[in-house]
Amino acid sequence: MAVIMNKKFLVRSFGCQMNKLDSSLVVNSFTQSGFELTEDIGATDVVLVNTCSVRNHAEERVLSMLGHLKHIKKTNPHLIVAVFGCMAQRRKEDLLNHPVVNIVCGPLQIPQLVNLVNNAIENTKKQKAVSENIRHKPLPKSLASLDDFEQDYDSVEEHLPAQAFVRVMHGCDNFCSYCVVPYVRGPEVSRPPEKIITQIKKLVDTGVKQVTLLGQTVNSYQHENMSFADLLYEVSKIDGLEWIKFVTCYPRDFDERIFKAMIDLPKICRYLHIPAQSGSDRILKAMNRGYTAEQYLEIIYKAKDIVPDIAVAGDFIVGFPSETDEDFQKTVELVQKAKYKNSFVFKYSPRPGTRANEKLADDVPNEVKKQRNIDLLAVQEKISAEINQAFVGRTLKVMVDGVSKKGHLDIAHKKEHTQLIGRSAGDYIVVFDGLANLAGQFIDVNITRASALTLFGKI
Ligand code: SAM
Ligand code: SF4
Repeated sequence: MAVIMNKKFLVRSFGCQMNKLDSSLVVNSFTQSGFELTEDIGATDVVLVNTCSVRNHAEERVLSMLGHLKHIKKTNPHLIVAVFGCMAQRRKEDLLNHPVVNIVCGPLQIPQLVNLVNNAIENTKKQKAVSENIRHKPLPKSLASLDDFEQDYDSVEEHLPAQAFVRVMHGCDNFCSYCVVPYVRGPEVSRPPEKIITQIKKLVDTGVKQVTLLGQTVNSYQHENMSFADLLYEVSKIDGLEWIKFVTCYPRDFDERIFKAMIDLPKICRYLHIPAQSGSDRILKAMNRGYTAEQYLEIIYKAKDIVPDIAVAGDFIVGFPSETDEDFQKTVELVQKAKYKNSFVFKYSPRPGTRANEKLADDVPNEVKKQRNIDLLAVQEKISAEINQAFVGRTLKVMVDGVSKKGHLDIAHKKEHTQLIGRSAGDYIVVFDGLANLAGQFIDVNITRASALTLFGKI
């Protein structure tokens, strides 16, 4: 395959942390194959769109972007548009038939993306690489290719110096009734621990101090005899690595040794993102989550018992089919009992191909979904404000992300200082004045003030 030199490419990414990681692997694979990254849409030869299918809104945003690209293609008819990720896998030909789209590439085929783009440049034919039977376990050859891709192109996050994300597993087998992920990212497969360790060592050699281990349900990681807790002990042995975070956990068959690892191993951050989705047992059953609200809370109480300063975050879906005010009230109660540091709240979005969409009417009016979303966030905000207030007067070790965006400009600026933003081990957002070159370093911050979203401090 001839390498096409000096072609410019631009990437737009929608969706979760997993997608951000995929985008950064893709960027590195393109730059190392002779392409040049640009932010100028008017000057680019290739547009790569990394897509999300979790909620309808995410797909609508991609379609609107494709509509915009139609105009750009009028002035640049040679522009190559590649759509990759979850929506590409879900909509396959449907997307390939879109007038601006040249390439459709599923999440398990991203190692092929450079070749697909080179082919499209050379012969102008539309290119497609998706899994035809996404629920079939990927062949060892394609798993090995994904592993190599991960190893070769993972790097320190461009916008987060000294930090990197490392996938420990692909896919999901849980089939929550509302969720599209098992149908677009395929079966759950845990990556071999030796590959994960080698990858992290390589990242640490390039200056990474904090890794976040990624998976849809990291606590169900299992490779031969190695469980997720075992993996934490192994990763913790890597010299030079200072902080280890992981997302997301699934609240079923939770291995307590994960909490013990947080106590035994100083590198494991005491942060647990463990979505509940609802506090109503009836809704949890309809969601096929496999636990009751009480069983969920037992995990949270156990976590707080073993790791008293653990920070817990949750996800909720409001307006799931047939959710009544009483069901919603139970969710409010669960949020109050769990005392999350923060919660992510989503309005139910019916997804084609999922059981909830096929079997249950989307019968909660949008206005009610919206109101429950606002109400639940208000309950959470009060709890977050109380939790955050307790940090005032304390000193927190923070990994500095970099200069904060405008939204956080809350402290009076001084000319010689920029306002920095970072996160603590518990994943609390901390904002303080300091020099921009502190990005990527650990620093102690004295917390002087707190809002529900942010801790403010001084160094
Ligand atoms: N695997 C993780 C888990 O089980 O929590 C996260 C998967 S999903 C990408 C992230 C969040 O999106 C979920 O926790 C859920 O709250 C939300 N979500 C998933 N499907 C949804 C849907 N159909 N409508 C609204 N929110 C949804
Ligand atoms: Fe979706 Fe459930 Fe799997 Fe999370 S655990 S990715 S919500 S099916």
